[in-house]
Amino acid sequence: VVTVRGLNVAYGTLEVVKGVDLDVAQGEKVVIMGPSGSGKSTFLRSLIWLVRPKSGKIVIDGIEVAQQTLMDVRKRVGFVFQHYNLFPHLKVIDNIVLPLVKVHGLLRGEAVQRAREALQLVGLADKERAYPLQLSGGQQQRAAIARAIAIRPKVLMLDEPTSALDPELVEEVLRVLEDIARRGTTMLIVTHEIDFALDVADRVVFFEGGKIVEEGPPDILYNPKTDRFRQFLRRLH
Ligand code: ATP
Ligand code: MG
Repeated sequence: VVTVRGLNVAYGTLEVVKGVDLDVAQGEKVVIMGPSGSGKSTFLRSLIWLVRPKSGKIVIDGIEVAQQTLMDVRKRVGFVFQHYNLFPHLKVIDNIVLPLVKVHGLLRGEAVQRAREALQLVGLADKERAYPLQLSGGQQQRAAIARAIAIRPKVLMLDEPTSALDPELVEEVLRVLEDIARRGTTMLIVTHEIDFALDVADRVVFFEGGKIVEEGPPDILYNPKTDRFRQFLRRLH
């Protein structure tokens, strides 16, 4: 569903993603790990040109990402950021309904139905009339996930969806993501939650210095091949 070839991304003269290749199959769950500043967020964002790559080829759901296809591609991708995901002036339900109507062209009734299904799935059915600031951090993040899945994305991309949360809220969000993973959604997730990676990932990718230094099945978390990844994992515990 996702093919990346020779991807290079830079901010001015600062090269951040350096020749990355990655293939993600339909339904596959890929967890991306790596030290701060290694280019994980930039990589994820560059896949839908939130940061425009310097060179390389990206194909998502059979469409090569380019200026002319960008809207089409973005419609197929659900994106959840670390924080600031919701529009604060809109009720939870409207946060989900609005993009469905405005971007995806659904009729309002249809959009409301989908939004309610998504809220149900993340355990927020009773919060649809609340404003984001009336929710806990974990609830806000679950609402953001509901918004991303309501568009029925071909690929769900999540950038450290739990890193801004208090420890006791992390579990509730991870549980929701595990649920979604089990439904067969293709997922690309930046996270350092080892247990989540072990339970959910089909593949773990270790990023460092803008390159994929190591990748493999989740067992590599027990038995990393490179010293770099081993050191990184040691520091996580
Ligand atoms: P973290 O784990 O801390 O989120 P990361 O792996 O996601 O780190 P990035 O956010 O992709 O790393 O940043 C990679 C490098 O690019 C860093 O050196 C960062 O300072 C730089 N960078 C990130 N965003 C920008 C930006 N908008 N403009 C200029 N430089 C940036
Ligand atoms: Mg990041």
